[in-house]
Amino acid sequence: MRIAVSRCLLGEAVRYDGKSKPCAAVRELLAARAELVAVCPEVEVGMTVPREAVDLVGAPEAPRMVGAETGQDWTARMDAWARGRVADLLAQGIAGAVLKARSPSCGIGDAAVAREAGGIPVPGDGLFVLALRRAAPGMPLVRDEDLVSAAEVEDFLERARSHAGGRSR
Ligand code: SF4
Repeated sequence: MRIAVSRCLLGEAVRYDGKSKPCAAVRELLAARAELVAVCPEVEVGMTVPREAVDLVGAPEAPRMVGAETGQDWTARMDAWARGRVADLLAQGIAGAVLKARSPSCGIGDAAVAREAGGIPVPGDGLFVLALRRAAPGMPLVRDEDLVSAAEVEDFLERARSHAGGRSR
């Protein structure tokens, strides 16, 4: 079974601050049970390491991605890249994804989205997650912070297996 994983969780230094965010459950438990497909939306769309942090601004169902300091607008590039990359991942047969919490790209329901620049944020999905949800409704997506114990890894794999089984019927 193939599972997409945020690259920084594998220990790769691809975050905006030049650091990684290794996740023991992914690297030790999940890697032993599934084929992991690494993906970093921000690096793959052409951002540098390190880089300016980006914010999500606008309606939570379709926010813009803008540089926190410069306001550089990445939305069109990220949306186009995400559509293509998600199609590629689905063609590879991924059955689920483990993604870094609170990222404006990878956050699952916990990315900060402000209605206007500088406004009070509400929780929403990152742009990569919005693309995943649109292309593969119901596919199991889990935050790294919710994947700690062997039982949580097992539960996630079971849901992914069941989703993949339903898709192939
Ligand atoms: S959270 Fe996502 S976009 Fe950010 S560094 Fe990790 S993989 Fe890349």
